[in-house]
Amino acid sequence: MVVRLVECKSAISRSRLPGLDWAINPYRGCAHACRYCYAQDVTRFEMDKEWGSVVEAKINIVSRLKKELDKGAKGVYGIGTVTDPYQPIERKYELTRGCLVLLKRSKARVSILTKSDLVLRDSDILTDWHGSEVGISIGCANDKVASVLEPGACPPSRRFAALARLSEAGIANYLMAAPILFGVCDSEEALEDMVLRASEAGVSRIIWDVFNPKPLATPRLKRALSSEGLTSLSPSGRSREDAVHAILAHQCSVHLIELSDAF
Ligand code: SF4
Repeated sequence: MVVRLVECKSAISRSRLPGLDWAINPYRGCAHACRYCYAQDVTRFEMDKEWGSVVEAKINIVSRLKKELDKGAKGVYGIGTVTDPYQPIERKYELTRGCLVLLKRSKARVSILTKSDLVLRDSDILTDWHGSEVGISIGCANDKVASVLEPGACPPSRRFAALARLSEAGIANYLMAAPILFGVCDSEEALEDMVLRASEAGVSRIIWDVFNPKPLATPRLKRALSSEGLTSLSPSGRSREDAVHAILAHQCSVHLIELSDAF
């Protein structure tokens, strides 16, 4: 993987995502290399390269953020709205951690979304920060299948364990059950298992979403599934979405978990 160190002009951008006012993305590109990821389609980042093979680290983001926060820190900051803020190079550069230190000091509110248990490294910052929450995404709870779908991310079993650790530490968290891939991980059994394991991890809120087909992401995903001999994607549609929602809603009601749509 190629890592490039770049300077950003600003640390914060406006967010149009529900519940967020601002977005902070310390990295462009993502080493988790999820086959279904549509960040490359949306950002047009390194279009001629394999997704996950190039990552840019915004090496000055912490100093930029400090200047920008000096003007005020109102609203909710989404950390990792485009690409994962806890991908492996965060262990070395600590850009996400540096941003969190400043945001906590500014008494800002933050919402982090990741697929990595590296977020636990920052438990010391997140504990007792009432304006913070951590979402961990798991669209397919099966470790073997996930290793094909998300070759650079830690297995879902470690992500469930991370949710449990967050819950035990009293850090607000939720499961982002996304993307649910029709034909791959949308069986009743798979969805029941997902909600049960979330419940066992002390999760009280699940947000869910389906795969968002895009020109780069869809063929990439199909290639990965077929090269590993996994079941192929089934067509999406209102009726399948409704069926998945009904299963999740029933399981969440059994386990007293709040369920909501991502968008
Ligand atoms: S973790 Fe998120 S940003 Fe990174 S490749 Fe996977 S879906 Fe894309």
